[in-house]
Amino acid sequence: MNALLPRPSILSIEPYVGGESKLPGVNRIIKLSSNEGAFGPPPGAVEAIAKAARDAHRYPDGHATALREAIGARFGLDPARIVCGNGSDELIAYLILAYGGEGTELVMPAHGFVMYELAGRYAGCRVIKVPERNLVADVDAMLAAVGPRTKLVCLVNPNNPTGALLPRAEVERLRAGLRDDILLILDAAYAEYVTEPDYDPGQALVDASGTTVMTRTFSKIFGLGGMRLGWAYMPAKVADVIGRIRGPFNVNSAAMAAGIAALAEPGWIERSVAHNTEWRARVVAGLEAAGIKVWPSHCNFVLADFGTAEAARAADAALKARGLIVRAVGGYALPTCLRITIGAADECQMVIDALTEHMRG
Ligand SMILES: *Cc1c(COP(=O)(O)O)cnc(C)c1O
Repeated sequence: MNALLPRPSILSIEPYVGGESKLPGVNRIIKLSSNEGAFGPPPGAVEAIAKAARDAHRYPDGHATALREAIGARFGLDPARIVCGNGSDELIAYLILAYGGEGTELVMPAHGFVMYELAGRYAGCRVIKVPERNLVADVDAMLAAVGPRTKLVCLVNPNNPTGALLPRAEVERLRAGLRDDILLILDAAYAEYVTEPDYDPGQALVDASGTTVMTRTFSKIFGLGGMRLGWAYMPAKVADVIGRIRGPFNVNSAAMAAGIAALAEPGWIERSVAHNTEWRARVVAGLEAAGIKVWPSHCNFVLADFGTAEAARAADAALKARGLIVRAVGGYALPTCLRITIGAADECQMVIDALTEHMRG
């Protein structure tokens, strides 16, 4: 009679599907499906995790004080307005739950990161996906989509899975066009990889607007996806709100120790960016030479466009046959494309060789 049911919006959520990591019958798997960084975890972080194990019986610092201070020092931010999370995904969900809800709307670009749609539905928001222009977020269209019920606007910059970068002036124009009762979430998961000189991952806008949050992660350039560690920089009043709803020990002690050590790893970012910039260009050149269209990327991946969904599936199968796992992005309404992470040098070369051979037929 009385069936146990969750809120109706919950059942409209398709569970998140991560990048694949196994291939039956293939020995050496090369996983280029989750943008996990080319070099593995920083050695200092590995050591810090092992050390933290000895104190595993102690509850972690629920305020992540040492980690917030290390992040603040590294990026020139006020630690009091940094909130750490069990991955930035957790913080994204809290922000959307806190400011969205039934009867509200969340506006995002058509090919934006899927977590925003999932968390928006979880919160009960109507999620509005705004068409892009040439796979770049269209600020005019986003502003036109904003209505009286809009409470959240979400922008990943540069974007996953397209790699597109919205110029700083356009991001500022977006914020300037939004009412002050709308929270703008700027997700800068790939900030460290960006080499554009005037790029602002969001911190300037957080300070200037009072209604903007920037989210960041240790899962990409810092190579700590398995630790689940993210952070966000926000106005004090938003930090107060998240402080009321987050789990009191949402970040574990090994993750905090790893994060602090990763920030201190000498030359890690510089070496990672240099490798990424060099090999991303080589992968782009190699794929273009093979006759594949590649969308411009500012991240540690490229979006290869095979023209048809069938051609993308065939390329995916050819890569898998060689043990190379990349990311199909049909779920992002990009069925003709594959997203390929920039891995180590030999892994990138294998992708170039495999796709060159595949395209020759
Ligand atoms: C990888 C990624 C994240 C990171 O999520 P974590 O929960 O910190 O691992 C956030 N946003 C985007 C757009 C990403 O690609």
